[in-house]
Amino acid sequence: MNNRIELIKDDITTLDVDAIVNAANQTLRGGGGVDGAIHRAAGRELLQACIGLEGCDTGYAKITPGFRLPAKYVIHTVGPVWRDGHHGEPELLRSCYTESLTLATIEKCTSVAFPNISTGVYRFPKEQAAAIAIETVRTYLQEEEFPQKVIFCCFDDENYEIYQELLSDL
Ligand code: ADP
Repeated sequence: MNNRIELIKDDITTLDVDAIVNAANQTLRGGGGVDGAIHRAAGRELLQACIGLEGCDTGYAKITPGFRLPAKYVIHTVGPVWRDGHHGEPELLRSCYTESLTLATIEKCTSVAFPNISTGVYRFPKEQAAAIAIETVRTYLQEEEFPQKVIFCCFDDENYEIYQELLSDL
């Protein structure tokens, strides 16, 4: 199992994988953080493709080509904004991971990279978000052959250290 999960600290837009996941917002029209970085790197065609998708609800995911990115696809998922943890935030975050993985399975993606969804502007506590991400991905991979590899792509040191700790306990 562990050889199907990888941890890296990198800019997700540079990864040569089948699909990268975008921590988007409901409009799917770009934004700050990882969303902005992905749109800048993929080019204007990504925005055009996203406009055609007519938004996305929190906890769901939609897929587009990667355009100028090395990645073949971008899977756009909308994480929950953290309020107090009692507004369905953990379940919605879990759903982001399963819905994104389901799209990756449908497209027979070999490798998929996730950013740390909701842990930036959306303020989801990083420890809890990492635990949900790892548990959801592990459970999914037990059932499915594709994607063959899931990469947790951290950008900040704090998230990277949290994932290192949690993944070393497996
Ligand atoms: P959200 O609105 O879902 O919280 P953010 O983009 O604000 O989304 O933050 C999500 C995570 O993405 C944060 O942990 C942030 O460090 C990370 N991040 C920002 N830029 C990049 C990038 N280029 N590659 C990978 N991760 C990134």
